[in-house]
Amino acid sequence: MKKQVFDYIICGGGASGLLLVNALLEDRYFDNKRILLIERETKNSNDRTWCFWETNPGHFDFLVKKSWPKASFKSKELNLNFKLAPFHYKMLRSKAFYNEIYQKMESHKQLTLLKAEVLNIKENQSTTRVKTDKGTFESEKVFNSIFNPKALCEQKKYPVLNQHFIGWFIKTNTPTFDPEKVLFMDFDILQEDQTRFLYLLPTDEKHALVEYTLFSEGLLQKEEYEKGIMDYLNAQGISAFEIEEKEQGNIPMSCFPFEQFNTPSLLNIGTAGGWTKASTGFTFKNTERKINRLVSFLKTEKNLNQFQTKNRFRFYDLLFLDVLLKYNEQGSKLFERMFAKNHPVTIFRFLDEKTTFLEDLKILSSFSLQQIRWFLSALVKRIF
Ligand SMILES: Cc1cc2nc3c(=O)[nH]c(=O)nc-3n(C[C@H](O)[C@H](O)[C@H](O)COP(=O)(O)OP(=O)(O)OC[C@H]3O[C@@H](n4cnc5c(N)ncnc54)[C@H](O)[C@@H]3O)c2cc1C
Repeated sequence: MKKQVFDYIICGGGASGLLLVNALLEDRYFDNKRILLIERETKNSNDRTWCFWETNPGHFDFLVKKSWPKASFKSKELNLNFKLAPFHYKMLRSKAFYNEIYQKMESHKQLTLLKAEVLNIKENQSTTRVKTDKGTFESEKVFNSIFNPKALCEQKKYPVLNQHFIGWFIKTNTPTFDPEKVLFMDFDILQEDQTRFLYLLPTDEKHALVEYTLFSEGLLQKEEYEKGIMDYLNAQGISAFEIEEKEQGNIPMSCFPFEQFNTPSLLNIGTAGGWTKASTGFTFKNTERKINRLVSFLKTEKNLNQFQTKNRFRFYDLLFLDVLLKYNEQGSKLFERMFAKNHPVTIFRFLDEKTTFLEDLKILSSFSLQQIRWFLSALVKRIF
C-alpha cells in the first residue's frame, strides 16, 4: 500500500479544524503544502450557534447572521445597559460557516478531504500516525481537534464545570425585542443553589434565541432547562410565540493542561487543546486568535509542542473555577460585583486576555471582602 504522507493532517473538521484549514488556504506560504482534513460527519447543519465579541471589521462578517452594538446585564441588584463599542457582539450560525469553508476547499488542490472515522493518533519517531477506518496517514505536523474527555474526567486536580444550556429560537406574533441589544446574562431568575442565567439574542423585533444556561458540575434533565425558558418568557409577558428551532450544548470549563498531550509532531487544538476559555466556555474567537498565531508559528518550522498557549489568565481562570465550584450558588453575586464595579468593556477585554496586569488587579479588587477571601483561600490551596 502506498505510504500516505502529508505535510499537515487535521483531525476533525469542526470550528477549530476549519478555522485552521481556512487560515492555511488563505496564506500563499502554504500553497505547496499537502493538507489532509479528516472528518467523520457531513458538516452542513446549524448544529451550533457561535457568538463572540470583536472589533469591526471581523474576518467572518460576511457570514455573520446578526451583530449587536449594545448589551445588558441583569441580576437581583443590578440592571445595566451599555454600549459595547469598540466591540460588537456577533452571531455566526454554523451552517453558513461550514458551507463557506467546505466550498472553499473544493477549489484548492493541495487539500484532501477525507470522510472517515479517526481510530487513533500515535507518535512514531519524528512523525505522528493517524489511523482511520479508511487507512493510515502520517505527518510531521498533525493537528487534533477530536475532544476526548477521558483525561479530564479521570483527574481531580483541576475543577471541571460545564457551561450547559438549551436554547429556543422563538418567533413572537408582535414586535417584542430590541434588535440592537443582546441580553448577555440575566441572573434575576431562581438560582436553585447554582449559577443559572438567561441569555437572549434578538435577531429582529419578533425573533430571538433564548437560552437557559448554567455554569455547574452536573447536567439537568431536558425538561428543567425548558421550564426555565418558559418561566422566563412568562415573567416577561411573552406568551404568544412559536419555537422555530432548538439548540442544546454542554461545553467543558476547565484549566486542565491539555497541552501536556502535545508532542513535536502533534498539536491539540480547539476544545481538545484547552482553547475553551475556562471561566466562560467561549471558544470560537479564542480559537480564531490562536489559529492566527499558529499560522505564523508554522512558518518557523519549530516543533509543535513549542507553540505557547499558556499565560497568567489561565491561573485566574483556575482560581475562579475553584471558587465557582465551591460556592456555585454565589456565581450570580460574583458576576454582579464584577459588572457593578468595572466598565463592561474592560470586562470583555479581561475575558479576551488583553488587559494589563494593573487592570487585572483592579478587576480582582472589585470583589467584596468575603469574595476576595474565597479567592485568597483558593490561591493558598493552589500554592501550598
Ligand atoms: C451548541 C453549542 C453552542 C456553542 N456556542 C458557542 C458560542 O456561542 N461561542 C463560543 O465561543 N463557543 C461556543 N461553543 C463552544 C465551541 O465554540 C464549540 O464547541 C466549537 O465547535 C468547538 O470547536 P472544536 O473544533 O474544538 O470542536 P468541534 O467543532 O466539535 O469539532 C470537532 C470535530 O471532530 C469531529 N470528530 C469527532 N470525533 C471524530 C472522529 N473519531 N473521527 C473523525 N472526526 C471526528 C466532529 O464531527 C467535529 O466536526 C458552543 C458549543 C456548542 C456545542
